Amino acid sequence: MKNNFHRDRLPNPLGYFEKSGLTLIGKGEWRSAICPFHKDTEPSLRVRVENGAFRCLACGEKGGDIVAFHQKRFGMTFKDACIALGAWGQL
Ligand SMILES: [Zn+2]
Repeated sequence: MKNNFHRDRLPNPLGYFEKSGLTLIGKGEWRSAICPFHKDTEPSLRVRVENGAFRCLACGEKGGDIVAFHQKRFGMTFKDACIALGAWGQL
């Protein structure tokens, strides 16, 4: 199933997060943002710009890459999230 997944085709996490409406605060490897997974009033979400990992310090939502983020955000399957991100297909 994961044979058609091409991690190297995923967009850059920093650009992806900004395009999906997150305002990233801070500099360095981990940035903060308002969490889209709960009614956030302060930047509780931490995202790692290098690989797209994320973790919310308030609601506990977390994942290891932007595929996981996209899946949770839009309720998609792994495959559909990969397709939406342009990282699915025959070589
Ligand atoms: Zn949250």
